Amino acid sequence: MFARITAHSLRRAASILLLASVLSACSAVQSIDTPAANGASAVAQASAAPSASASAAAIAASSTQASVAPSAAESPVAGTTDEQAIIASIQETLDLYAKAYNDNDPSLLAQVVDPKNGPMKRYVQTRFENYQESIFGGQGGFEYTVTEVEPHESGFIIATIERSGLQAKWTFREVNGRWLMSEPNEKQLGERQKVESEHFTFYMYPWTKDVNEKLMQQMDVAREQVLEKLGKVPDLKANVYIKPTFGVGAVTSPNTLAFYDRNSRAGDRIVIAAPNSYVFPFYDASAGWEGDLQTTLTHEYTHLVNNRSFTPISRMSDWMVEGLAEYVSDPTSARSRGVPAAVASDQIIPIMDTSGQVNKQDLEHLTILEQDVGLAYGFAFTLVEFINDKHGGMDGFWKLVQSYDQKQNLPAAIQEAYGISYEQFDQEWRAWLEENYG
Ligand SMILES: [Zn+2]
Repeated sequence: MFARITAHSLRRAASILLLASVLSACSAVQSIDTPAANGASAVAQASAAPSASASAAAIAASSTQASVAPSAAESPVAGTTDEQAIIASIQETLDLYAKAYNDNDPSLLAQVVDPKNGPMKRYVQTRFENYQESIFGGQGGFEYTVTEVEPHESGFIIATIERSGLQAKWTFREVNGRWLMSEPNEKQLGERQKVESEHFTFYMYPWTKDVNEKLMQQMDVAREQVLEKLGKVPDLKANVYIKPTFGVGAVTSPNTLAFYDRNSRAGDRIVIAAPNSYVFPFYDASAGWEGDLQTTLTHEYTHLVNNRSFTPISRMSDWMVEGLAEYVSDPTSARSRGVPAAVASDQIIPIMDTSGQVNKQDLEHLTILEQDVGLAYGFAFTLVEFINDKHGGMDGFWKLVQSYDQKQNLPAAIQEAYGISYEQFDQEWRAWLEENYG
């Protein structure tokens, strides 16, 4: 006998799927873990060498301070007190780590991770598997260079790591004379603080004190940008969690900048990955982490405002939700996500997949696309831009959203909001794409 699928269970399954994909897709498409090109990373390594020795000298003064900190007693630092030796040891760890990727040899990962740190072991394993399963898997070409080390609390070192012009900050701990990939446990982070600002309630740890203030400012900028584009934001304060490490706070996949979680136990919230943690993706070394993160925070805060002050996200189609967030946060979205090339080669992702297949490959179901999710965000952006341009600005967009909210059917909503058929709307959009991005 066939299982009976009710409308209710279908809706429930769809909403669970949507939540899962909104959580991952929002941040995942911001960064793709690509291997370094060999030529480029050789240049990065060469130019990094002088700064490594300069910075080693620079930290000589502060390292004494770190070793007398009371918390350092928890993880005794014996042996390597010399900064050059620390840099050399971290570089050895990084070389082994790169070799694991280049040789597709996960057994090497055990040698680079603090064996006592469960979350860190999971992180390294997950990141490795995500990469090998991605379209870039198996290409190799990984090369990491440590350019700077800075002592932190509890005997940890925060190292600046470069990879072909990109940069990240990773933490290391000394285990039996070797500096391994590790991160502090909850106790070592210090006591979590709740900080009220005018528009937000922040939850943060002393461990990330170097970036906490900057992140608070960036949320204010996000709020101003959304207010300017959408005309209103909620009066009620929003909760923002600064996630200090992979192991503490909301469950997050590697390479996450931030995400909007509308269904957390304590109501909705924005979670930000600390820029000096393993979760945060590599960023342009000369531009710094602030730019990409600001765009993402404005994108995620748009979701919050959309959900609280306009129409619940669960009542809207994917392209409306993501297209709006892109439209508000990043005017270059279509170009940076490859829309012009797709238009030129006649590979426009359809608004509605009419092929009859069950797993629709279209912008209505953007978050379950099997490929080109990043490009789909770009096309979703163009739909919102097109509506703003040709169908009554932002008011025209909300008019369509309201019709869709009631009808849960795009052709009917377009007919009601704009008085034209879906086919005509689609044709107009495609002509507009040719004109603006062709
Ligand atoms: Zn999003």
